[in-house]
Amino acid sequence: MNARKTALAKINEDSKYVSDLSKPYDVDNEYGTDSFSIRAMGDYLSKPIYKKLLETIEKGVPLDPAVADDVAHAMKIWAMQKGATHYTHWFFPLTGTSAEKHDSFIEPASDSKAITRFSGKNLIMGEPDASSFPSGGLRSTFEARGYTAWDPTSPAYIKRVGGVATLCIPTVFLSYTGEVLDKKTPLLRSIQVLGKQARRLVKCFGLSADSKVSVTLGAEQEYFLIDKNFYLLRPDLMETGRTLFGSLPQKHQQLEDHYFGQIKPRILNFMHDVDLELWRVGIPAKTRHNEVAPAQFEIAPVFEELNLATDHNIMMMEILRNTAEKHGLACLLHEKPFAGINGSGKHNNWSISVGDRNLLNPGTNPHENALFMTALCAVIEAVDKHSDLLRSATAGAGNDHRLGANEAPPAIISIFLGEQLADIIDQIEGGGAKSSKSGKMLKIGIDTLPPLSCDATDRNRTSPFAFTGNKFEFRAAGSSQSCSTPNIVLNTIVAEAFDEIATKLEKLSPENFHDGLQKILQDIVKKHKRVIFNGDGYKENWKAEAAKRGLPNLATTPEALKPLIDPANIAFFEKYGVFNECELKSRYEVFMEEYEKKIQIEAALTLQISKTTILPAVVKYAKTLGDAAATFIAAKIDNPIAESFKVYSEHVTNLVQANSKLEKVLADKMEPKYKIEAMNAVRAAVDTLEKEVDDDLWPLPKYSEMLFVY
Ligand code: ADP
Ligand code: MG
Repeated sequence: MNARKTALAKINEDSKYVSDLSKPYDVDNEYGTDSFSIRAMGDYLSKPIYKKLLETIEKGVPLDPAVADDVAHAMKIWAMQKGATHYTHWFFPLTGTSAEKHDSFIEPASDSKAITRFSGKNLIMGEPDASSFPSGGLRSTFEARGYTAWDPTSPAYIKRVGGVATLCIPTVFLSYTGEVLDKKTPLLRSIQVLGKQARRLVKCFGLSADSKVSVTLGAEQEYFLIDKNFYLLRPDLMETGRTLFGSLPQKHQQLEDHYFGQIKPRILNFMHDVDLELWRVGIPAKTRHNEVAPAQFEIAPVFEELNLATDHNIMMMEILRNTAEKHGLACLLHEKPFAGINGSGKHNNWSISVGDRNLLNPGTNPHENALFMTALCAVIEAVDKHSDLLRSATAGAGNDHRLGANEAPPAIISIFLGEQLADIIDQIEGGGAKSSKSGKMLKIGIDTLPPLSCDATDRNRTSPFAFTGNKFEFRAAGSSQSCSTPNIVLNTIVAEAFDEIATKLEKLSPENFHDGLQKILQDIVKKHKRVIFNGDGYKENWKAEAAKRGLPNLATTPEALKPLIDPANIAFFEKYGVFNECELKSRYEVFMEEYEKKIQIEAALTLQISKTTILPAVVKYAKTLGDAAATFIAAKIDNPIAESFKVYSEHVTNLVQANSKLEKVLADKMEPKYKIEAMNAVRAAVDTLEKEVDDDLWPLPKYSEMLFVY
């Protein structure tokens, strides 16, 4: 038996893991127990210290360094009771994953003894050797050192990997001179900027400007699961996250029988285990289901504050991977692990509240309506003005397979509002909306909009940016990406729109407020309604229509990253203090380099697998065919396989030629697009041969196995 067949045979024996359900889930004593939550702080800190820390966490009051020693000490005691011996600052460099460097609490004392210690200084600041993290040149012009600094708004927690407990402290990561080297700092900056402008805006509507602003995120996470035995036989999956070869099985997702289908026992056991792990660290996992593609699934938590939700999503991805390992599975978070069937996204559900008022909730009274319509128009303006930046925030080698290809959502950023809202927007454009129910003229803020229930919008699955009842859902983000980048952009572009609207509103006298507001919104709609598209984003004719409207279509990563270094965009981010010029240019460098390296790895690996794994099997089968032909000829009977042997040898020729071409492209260090072209040609040749070669000889697990046998 070849390795593939052995794997296939083993799967049924291995996959007997069954969750321990002997005890009912004790939500009071199990949920969030490994999170140094506000509740735990209450238990472990003295009252004055607790109060001070709470002011920082809840009201954003700068942290009093005097409290740090006490907090650190309490955290150490808490963590050691949980079994931790080490702590780590947990940070988010530009590599796309999280980073950690563990230090033990142990300090030597006299007498060959040791004590444990964790100081405020250790809690607040760390200095990992940062020289190997990508910085896009930031550190060659500045200082080589990188610093991590505690983010008290995201609770420390116990990370358990392979039974080992470590205290994880979420931190930002900066250079010596304060340039950001990470994905968290600009997110925190953008939340602050949006908060400031939102307060100004609501003040114009007579609401208190002192209220707390909450930017919230609910991130739906899609993923694939395959059996680990297959995974280990696919170097392409292990090294690049996606299959570089594999022909589509006869049956895949055509029957739509996987979406929301009954969850198989092995998968449900996995999901259950994942939920327990997530709840343990205080992540409110809520929804789990089968997705469209075979072996594809989704998990969604209840929405939380954006910074926390972003950290929680990273933790969720880690927990998905680690739990899969425990269950003999491999969790694939790549945007397109399998060609020809759906890829995976991360739907980014975003909204903003001031006090307990969600600005994107239509509400039922006139004042609420006016504020809602204003926030809605602000988002429309923001997305239209900066759709290039939103697209750039989702750029990456993996996501190009979704956004640039024939899959939802397209790379063209447009907004879906649904019929009812689109109709109201049209009326605003015409100068004063008529409520569709009563037929009366509507002046924003005076008459009422028809009550908009949360379900007033129909569902549209193809739009990259859809209004869904009381939030916007940005669907272009890729399944493996951090939520940080898209939300940095979203926050900053909406902050700008709020800023511009508030500046105009602040100049209006109370008598002129409603007419003035009406005019402002009318102008916005006239200018920016081209970005609203309620049709089918999959259709080919949308591309032509979007081009006519002047909407950008940045299909590939190199195009999509360009907006980061556009002088107008640099000025925009500098104005709001989210990124400076150096930081944007360094990000551009880092992300371009990451893209080029990923394509290089894929291309080189394609060639290697093709030559050393595929071709030998192909040649073996040629020998079988040749021997058979010889047997027929020797027996002096018609050779019935002459024709298929000839066709087969043509396929082999194609493969050998495609390999040579790719080899040359790599040797000449050609641009990524030529590497992609050449590797696609090798893949096409291999996938054709997969359907010809003796099944017993084929070395790589097939799609029909990976996607269905688990
Ligand atoms: P769908 O039906 O699109 O799959 P759901 O309605 O279940 O999605 O919600 C998806 C995500 O949106 C969940 O994480 C949910 O908590 C989140 N969500 C709901 N309301 C808001 C809101 N106001 N702001 C941000 N996220 C929200
Ligand atoms: Mg959704």
